[in-house]
Amino acid sequence: MDNADLLDKFVDFLNEFYKDELVKTANEGRKSISINFSLLEKFDVNIADYLLENPVETIPTIQKAVKQIDVGHIDENFRVRFFNLPENRNIRIRNVRAEHIGKMIVVDGFVKRASEVRPEISEAVFQCLDCGSNITIVQTERIMHAPIECGNPACRNRKAFKLVDQKLYDARWVVVEEPFEITEGERPSDLRIYLKEDLTSPKMQNKTEPGNRIKTAGTLKELPRRVKGTPSRQMEIYLEANHVESVETEWEELDITHENEQKILDLAKDPEIYTKLMNSISPALYGLEDIKQAIVLQLFSGETHIQRDRSRVRGDIHVLLVGDPATSKSALMKVVSGLIPRGRYVSGKGVTGAGLTATVVKDEEFLGGWVLEAGALVMTNRSVCCIDEFEKIEKTDQVALHEMMEQQTISIAKANIVATLPAMTAILAGGNPKLGRFDPYLPIKEQIDIPETILTRFDLKFALRDIPNPETDTKIAEHILQARHFGVEQSKPIIDNDLFKKYVAYARKNCHPKLSREAADEIKSFYLSLRERSGEESPISITPRQYEAVTRMAEASAKIQLKDEVTKEDALRAINLMKASLRQFGFEPETGQIDIDRAEGARATSVQRSRIRILLDILDELEKTFGKDIPFDEVIRRARDQGVDAPDDILKKMQQEGMLYSSRVGVVSKV
Ligand SMILES: [Zn+2]
Repeated sequence: MDNADLLDKFVDFLNEFYKDELVKTANEGRKSISINFSLLEKFDVNIADYLLENPVETIPTIQKAVKQIDVGHIDENFRVRFFNLPENRNIRIRNVRAEHIGKMIVVDGFVKRASEVRPEISEAVFQCLDCGSNITIVQTERIMHAPIECGNPACRNRKAFKLVDQKLYDARWVVVEEPFEITEGERPSDLRIYLKEDLTSPKMQNKTEPGNRIKTAGTLKELPRRVKGTPSRQMEIYLEANHVESVETEWEELDITHENEQKILDLAKDPEIYTKLMNSISPALYGLEDIKQAIVLQLFSGETHIQRDRSRVRGDIHVLLVGDPATSKSALMKVVSGLIPRGRYVSGKGVTGAGLTATVVKDEEFLGGWVLEAGALVMTNRSVCCIDEFEKIEKTDQVALHEMMEQQTISIAKANIVATLPAMTAILAGGNPKLGRFDPYLPIKEQIDIPETILTRFDLKFALRDIPNPETDTKIAEHILQARHFGVEQSKPIIDNDLFKKYVAYARKNCHPKLSREAADEIKSFYLSLRERSGEESPISITPRQYEAVTRMAEASAKIQLKDEVTKEDALRAINLMKASLRQFGFEPETGQIDIDRAEGARATSVQRSRIRILLDILDELEKTFGKDIPFDEVIRRARDQGVDAPDDILKKMQQEGMLYSSRVGVVSKV
């Protein structure tokens, strides 16, 4: 296409559609204008197509056209940006290919890494060392281009030039990662994006920090790669951004068909829906009803509330599972991470790279500055992050968790980088008890190596204990047998994973229930009764956090039925779950006491706990002499010697709780 022709057409287009806005833009001293591409298409489909195919030459032409329009003073480096490009220009990151080089495309992704904003050379002035004339070269690439020959017709020197002046603009590199939901089970692909000039303004900088999702229109270019400082023939591709916008909606590309929607609406009306959802979570893992119910509520999530003082109350429900080593918590957590778009499973021990929160590293391949990289909790923003071996996470990450679990942001200040990243993430954590096995008589904070300040941020805590119980053991054995040897029917979920995921996404997006008066009263009176019954000796402290937790769970319960209002029924479901969670850690919600006290009459719980410790110590000691089978009488005698009252009752209780077992009459063994 003829350039002069193109220029005239752009002038006509701008005069017709953007004159007023250009005047306004010029008055406000802005450095760019965003043009709706569909208007250009309507104006002249040929030049619109030509622009998409030849942006490197065409965008400067429209920028030149702006200067021919009478709008008052306009910035010398004024830019024209385009949004709303045709649908067929949206390319999935993994499908970006060499064939797109030099063309305009649009990609959608989560920012995983971002460099600091640094000045780069934009225009370089060279002096000819032969004749002394100046040659200005516009630097569009990362590598400085010197003139090919001197512009002076009498000279035409092709060798010796000296850089005498340069103009700078701000630039930033980011790496975006494909949204997870479209790369099921695969490592997400990523792409580098180059942002410059007003795309690096403080406002844009916030929008392009790690953890944000952005839709970028730009020109795909090649980047010569340097291997050990020398240019290599290998090329890497990157997108030079022309326009960047935030993508706020959650999981919009999760393709919920009309048929899916109908199924979801039917499920929401099903009176058995709670059970169906629970049974669809890892049906091969038998039992665990309370835990599965907690997870269902966590997946659907409560509502975020912005208070009058503009502080936020999170809607995310954090759940902690403390499990005996042989229990199935890891398997369960892996399944859960697959039931929500962008869910992730990580191990506290094995989180590498950016870790859980975020990290700042010296950058080798980008601009040579610092790069901020988002960790798992940022990349699972608005989803669920399953963190196994929670007690093993780095201390620095633990510090950041305090902020993240309440404020839902992760702040980082290191080197030149100061940033606050979004982390509206619900945590499903799995931890191992410090003593190897979970001991129901010890306060949880003594059993797990997690600071109490973090423990209190979990809405629900459950122990997964391996307690021998003939009745459930038989059921579990039968269940496994059925599942493994007589067809897989039994372990097939009632609601398959795909529909489950869509149901969660649909409810989170479309349903925002409000608390009814009845539900609020129910939650309030439950909380007040808990407060009344808790005391200094309680194994768990009762604080307003439990009140907020119950509210969140009740909201989640209402969302499952896609209701506008949280009803009393939802409140009761949440309350029962909170009671179950408290009981697991020795707090009896009906009395405020720990369980064993009821069996033996009211006593100070600390005395009680210490008696169990004494018995465990005696058992350890005797095990050295007698081996696994320790004579019951011997234990009793030693316990009495050490002043323990009614040791046989305590031993019996320990047996019921699965801490001890008896292989034959007269002996006890530690589990
Ligand atoms: Zn010269």
